[in-house]
Amino acid sequence: MSDTITANCPECDATVTFAKAPLNGEVVRCGDCSVELEVTNADPIALEVAPEVEEDWGE
Ligand SMILES: [Zn+2]
Repeated sequence: MSDTITANCPECDATVTFAKAPLNGEVVRCGDCSVELEVTNADPIALEVAPEVEEDWGE
């Protein structure tokens, strides 16, 4: 058994490494292409590119 948890970035196919098991809905950043990835499934890990969130909270 390995302690290293990895998944592939859907954008650039780089290996994304998790220090611990990610939670469903967790957002991580790809170290290779810097895209934000949302964990859509925890086991097995599935990643999807998170939509760009603009800082546009004000009315
Ligand atoms: Zn990537």
